[in-house]
Amino acid sequence: MKIKTKLTLGVGLLFLLIVTLSAISIWNLQQMKKDTELILKANYNTLTYSRNMLRELDHFRNDSLAIKLFEENLAKQRINVTEKGEKKATENLTIHFGQLANNKENTLLYPLIRQDILDIMMLNMQAISRKSASAMQTSENANLWIGTTGALCFLIAFVLLVNLPGNIANPIAELTASIKAITDRNYRQRVHLDGHSEFSELASSFNTMAEKLEEYAGSNLSRLLMEKKRIETLINNMHDPVIGLDEQQIVLFANDEAFRIIGLNREDILGKRISELAVQNDLLRSLCNDPALEKPRTGTIRIYADGKESFFEQELIPINIVPTGEKDEQFIGSVILLRNITPFRELDLAKTNFIATVSHELKTPIASIKMGLQLLHNETTGKLNQEQENLLQSIGEDSDRLLRITGELLNMSQVETGNIQLNIRQCNAHEMISYAVDATHIAAESKHLHVRIDMQEHLPLIKADPEKVAWVLTNFLSNAIRYSPEQGDIIVGITLKKEKICFSVQDHGKGIDNRYQQRIFERYFQVPGSNRTGTGLGLAISKEFIEAQGGEIGLESKPGMGSTFYFYLPL
Ligand code: ADP
Repeated sequence: MKIKTKLTLGVGLLFLLIVTLSAISIWNLQQMKKDTELILKANYNTLTYSRNMLRELDHFRNDSLAIKLFEENLAKQRINVTEKGEKKATENLTIHFGQLANNKENTLLYPLIRQDILDIMMLNMQAISRKSASAMQTSENANLWIGTTGALCFLIAFVLLVNLPGNIANPIAELTASIKAITDRNYRQRVHLDGHSEFSELASSFNTMAEKLEEYAGSNLSRLLMEKKRIETLINNMHDPVIGLDEQQIVLFANDEAFRIIGLNREDILGKRISELAVQNDLLRSLCNDPALEKPRTGTIRIYADGKESFFEQELIPINIVPTGEKDEQFIGSVILLRNITPFRELDLAKTNFIATVSHELKTPIASIKMGLQLLHNETTGKLNQEQENLLQSIGEDSDRLLRITGELLNMSQVETGNIQLNIRQCNAHEMISYAVDATHIAAESKHLHVRIDMQEHLPLIKADPEKVAWVLTNFLSNAIRYSPEQGDIIVGITLKKEKICFSVQDHGKGIDNRYQQRIFERYFQVPGSNRTGTGLGLAISKEFIEAQGGEIGLESKPGMGSTFYFYLPL
């Protein structure tokens, strides 16, 4: 039965019982009231009239008022005839009173009248006794009815009291417990409620929901497991080592390649803090030298594994997620990727060696060409005409260019093989600048450029390799000359900044677009569309030279406004 029907029936029944009980009580009270009213009206009044008539009868002879009062009471009695036989007795009394009124001296009539009155009284007293018995019976009936109905009401109310709250509260309690179980991910929980109440419908909906949740959780879990396996297999089959860390830097996973190069077993690594492992393992030490392991970091590391030297490019990828329902990113760990670049390194080395050999081998023939040119310029080998002079000049310029290029290539191969020979000593900044300006003044004059040196007097001596610094300055200057418009200004400056000295070369040429500024110091890089006569190595070599001396190189440039190349050196 539906809860609504149950409640309606329960409350309705109680309402009905209350109404019935009240109706029975009112009806019985009414009944008793009617009985007493009847006694009072029909019989008690007659007795009063009769008593009055008896009293007046005794004063008939000496009181004329008595007859009148008797007459009045008789008239009242005549209209209050209610009992069987009373009418006859009242008529007898009327006749005898009429005779006595005509003849007051007739003493025989007195006993007759008294007898008539007594008859009437007798009849009414009998009626009172009968009616009182009937009233008693009515009251007993009322008691019985009210008692029975009351008991029935009590029984029904008791049954309702015992059953109804439980009927409503028990299913609610059962449902609450089941919902709590579902919240605790016990998706096997079911509710069993019989019948056809709303709770049974609710229970059936709940069971359907739990079943779907169970199915969903099951399918999700298996799918997640499948995904996990797939990713694990993928990571394991990668040729590059991969190590996953959580936010506490505890190793969560690593692939076979990682175990191989680290030289430790799965059990030795997984679940351990990388900083603890790094104490005994050189490779891990070089991997985790960043204490936070939060910033993306790249770099090349050299590893000896399986008896040979390998090179790996290290990439640290921080993993940040936005948790569901939140706005801020949260750091949850990082992945260390080691890309094996040994084959590329080997190829690069072969190329560097090849370039070094070729440049070295080219230097001697170029030197003989230059010597030959000098001899040809000499009058002793014969006088040259103007055309021959011009040809010799262009051969001279080309061989200078070749010499510069081979020099740059040699420098580069030195840099690439890590063989920069530094000759650090106390040197004068002014001398280095003068050297660079002198070395480039012919080129500057040919374009009518004004090279201005902007520096304070009495600069302190610096500790550097003067040849390398002068080389870098010459490179900056020759670039500035190459990219300046005719008659432009070039400013070579030196400024002191705290513990550093800054050399800069500023031109007012076409400048360098923002997107190329990052790459300008890369090897062989040339801005697309620029004069391609160079090698693209000058700035790369400059960077290596300056950084090898503990300095820092950089550039500020705005397209169309010119560029300022600078480097800092520690004092
Ligand atoms: P290159 O031998 O080509 O000059 P660099 O390494 O010295 O090699 O320069 C790399 C590239 O940077 C050049 O090709 C040129 O495009 C650009 N560059 C260098 N200096 C300047 C400058 N002062 N103004 C504009 N572009 C420049």
